[in-house]
Amino acid sequence: MDLRLVTSAEALAGAAGDELVEAWLVLTRAIADRALVSPDFLVGDVAEGPTFDEQIETLEHTRRSLERAAEVASLVSRSADAVMRVVADAHEGVVRQHDHLSWTHLAGDDSYPLAVGEFAADSLAPVLGMRSGSVASMADDAATLRSRHPWMLAECLAGRARFATATVISDELDHIVEPEALARVTDLVEKYGAHRMGGSAARRHVRKLLRVLGLAREADEVLADREKGVWFEPHLDVDSLTEMCVVLDTGDALALHAVIEARAEHLRAGWGGGGLPPSRGRCRVAALVDLMVENSSVHAAFTLQVPLAADSPPTQSLRREQCSTMRFVRALRSSPGESSAFADVDVPGMGVVTGEALARLAASIGTTFAVRLTRDLANGRVVTTGTLSQTYRPHATMAALVTDRDEVCRFPYCTRPGTSADLDHVIPFVEGGATSGSNLQSLCRHHHRAKTFGGYAVSMDAEATCEWESPFGRRWLTRPGGVTVPLEPRAGRVA
Ligand SMILES: [Zn+2]
Repeated sequence: MDLRLVTSAEALAGAAGDELVEAWLVLTRAIADRALVSPDFLVGDVAEGPTFDEQIETLEHTRRSLERAAEVASLVSRSADAVMRVVADAHEGVVRQHDHLSWTHLAGDDSYPLAVGEFAADSLAPVLGMRSGSVASMADDAATLRSRHPWMLAECLAGRARFATATVISDELDHIVEPEALARVTDLVEKYGAHRMGGSAARRHVRKLLRVLGLAREADEVLADREKGVWFEPHLDVDSLTEMCVVLDTGDALALHAVIEARAEHLRAGWGGGGLPPSRGRCRVAALVDLMVENSSVHAAFTLQVPLAADSPPTQSLRREQCSTMRFVRALRSSPGESSAFADVDVPGMGVVTGEALARLAASIGTTFAVRLTRDLANGRVVTTGTLSQTYRPHATMAALVTDRDEVCRFPYCTRPGTSADLDHVIPFVEGGATSGSNLQSLCRHHHRAKTFGGYAVSMDAEATCEWESPFGRRWLTRPGGVTVPLEPRAGRVA
């Protein structure tokens, strides 16, 4: 190594912690700024030769240098990730200590006493642009690794292992209490380098090791039962699709698989639509829906709020509302099956049902909408009810409106759904705060407490934008729908 580098490395090693962090920041910025212009600077000075062989040599050198740069960047990123978690753990320790010292200020709610360090993650999480829950687990994971697997923590800090993988391994081993047994497994984990694998590979490897050593976790029937279920979620890429996830006993799954396959094969063999038969995946979906719905004698009902397409939104006036209803009915009658009668409906937690699909649905159950759309129009397996009333009436539906508007908790970066959140008066009701859209927000129970007891200040403007300030002067704007924008800290309050 060049003498200059050795000298600076020695100087850095002797520097104070916060100086090192600043030096790290300066180095990272210098590299990132130059990489933004072109990564060529990473390859050093290589003069291009005139001959073919020399040109080949230059390209080889460039490739090696870029590979080395990528390797170092990856090492630094893994190491930084581990440092962040260790810091989160230390941060929590400091907050706990501080909370102990200022214990009297924390004695607020006797019915639900405050825990020491309860709001530690709430001040660090928005600084990192993360959810409080994630930062709390980061701190927990670092503490666990430090006490149970210090060698693995060292590997992560050196950038040789991913922290996420180390956490997976640590979770897989958390039922082992005896130090000797733990040492036996971790020796093998280290020997086979499971901590350097990806998360799922490491999990498989460790489970296999535990089975061989006779240390496998006892089958937990309660846990298995808790895992079972059926869930629906909107498809990530295509709005009009829904993902369905099913977790069930493997025996049941095998039977279900066999039935779906047989039906799908039958549909595929009988394909008469011309051209190529649909893919196996599509046949399985058709088979599953057939088996679940067509042959079912269960009468299920669902209710959709169907907005009018290309029409003014319903207003508070009942007369206008009835006019809209009548126009809607006329439109549907005059042009059955046309998309113009319906707008797309966003079904929370599922996806989007398009106006065309709704029109088809309405036509297929052979129904005409009567005077009021609030009546059930059952015929067959579904009930489609278009409701235009109530949505815009303020008082009775204020809670639903605020929950709909906010979608998630309004604390910076929190993603807990608004449907299970508290409705908080930004300016408390007893202080004259109105029960109105510009003074109500969704807050999850934890962040409701952080606002009431944890020293977080919030104000809201007429557009429902909230400005949050932490007890240390850091500030954020949050908008409905889970948007957080960091702001400059208040001058003079953050060191
Ligand atoms: Zn929250």
